[in-house]
Amino acid sequence: MKPPIRQTVLLNRMPARPLHLLRQIGRLADERGVSVYLVGGVVRDLLLKRENWDLDLAVEGDGIGFARLVANRYGAGLAVFERFATARLAFPDGLKMDIATTRQESYAQPALLPTVQPASIEEDLSRRDFTINAIAVQLNSDQFGRVLDPYGGQRDLRARIICVLHAGSFQDDPTRIFRAIRFEQRFGFRLERATVGLLVQAASRDLIQGLSGPRLWNEILLLFAERDPVRAIARMGQLKLLRFLHGRLCYTKNVKQVVAVVPKALAWWVRRFPNSVIDRSIIYLMALSSESTPTVVAWMIRRLALPREQAKNVAIVGRRVDRALKSLTDKGTARPSQVYRLLADFSDETLVLLLAKQMGARHGARLSLLKRHLAAYVKNKAVKTALTGRDLQAMGLKPGPQYKTILGKLLDARIDGMVKTEAEERALVEKQL
Ligand code: ATP
Ligand code: MG
Repeated sequence: MKPPIRQTVLLNRMPARPLHLLRQIGRLADERGVSVYLVGGVVRDLLLKRENWDLDLAVEGDGIGFARLVANRYGAGLAVFERFATARLAFPDGLKMDIATTRQESYAQPALLPTVQPASIEEDLSRRDFTINAIAVQLNSDQFGRVLDPYGGQRDLRARIICVLHAGSFQDDPTRIFRAIRFEQRFGFRLERATVGLLVQAASRDLIQGLSGPRLWNEILLLFAERDPVRAIARMGQLKLLRFLHGRLCYTKNVKQVVAVVPKALAWWVRRFPNSVIDRSIIYLMALSSESTPTVVAWMIRRLALPREQAKNVAIVGRRVDRALKSLTDKGTARPSQVYRLLADFSDETLVLLLAKQMGARHGARLSLLKRHLAAYVKNKAVKTALTGRDLQAMGLKPGPQYKTILGKLLDARIDGMVKTEAEERALVEKQL
């Protein structure tokens, strides 16, 4: 039996390579006697004509067993997560694929991870977050391209709305609160009316408190990693979700302004220093906490269980950054070594925040001064003294804390262009003795 022509239209939007692979996988499923479906974000994005190479497959039956079969047949790497009845495949040509057993989830307690049981594809779709993410496309040969859309996902895609499948959805899994905003902002959709009500209600009931720090932070990070985090943050503010970072987070007009210019600061930075590797997402959290008290910031770091590097970056915002910014934009700080000393402890992320704060303050002259200082500082970071501790020892100096002082002075002199050669460095050391 040939499928009606319309069925294959959707999958034909895929590039040849993954399309060919999906056809073959459909045949393999026929041989195995299981039904297999393409599900989730990739289906949504096919319908939206957006690129997405996260191939998510769901198998009615033994998903992991089927994943093993596929991996063997195509020489793909395989990682199995028994607990979630899923497997991840990495094909030799670079394609990645998740294969899961279709399942039902039950939530023993709101906000905790669910228990998982095998179920039909319809039941599997029913546990998903939003209608637009609950569409499946069958891959078995005689049904290749058949769309299963029991919740009106295609209708909602056309209407450009984000809509939950049932009233308890956010309570079952509060991470969906943030997912809702992520998709709404990414696609420029709107939250469906009843869904907003449910979201606000779930948020007000403090269900999010039940989320573990890493799960909550992971969702927020995903929001910050979107193309336009500024809008997503504004939306979080509007829906009173920022209090889940901390109840007393200081979200003032100033803070909003700094957040709003982070993309501009980042753009300047990466254009100017293309080799700097930057954790973009954390800068948004730094900007958001830039006017909160150290106590609030410390709580937030603990609540979100931030990893060390990120925690360090967030902890530094506030007074230290403000003090550095003040000195830097003060005409008195003229010598390059002074600038170097002011900034030497700061991560690149902190420097971007500094820039954003100055951009937010809208003081043109000081902004260009700061940019010049930053450029000079980054250049000077590569400056090294010719002499080392060993040379000082050879010069007859007793090892001790004075080494650090002397080498520091030498570095300052180098940075300020006062000494240029090893001989000049030696002369300077001798003069100091
Ligand atoms: P993205 O493009 O951001 O990856 P996605 O829709 O693919 O979006 P994933 O987090 O990769 O999102 O999840 C894949 C699919 O799994 C979703 O489309 C959705 O059907 C389902 N899903 C993911 N997280 C949840 C959740 N918290 N609750 C219910 N269903 C979820
Ligand atoms: Mg995905």
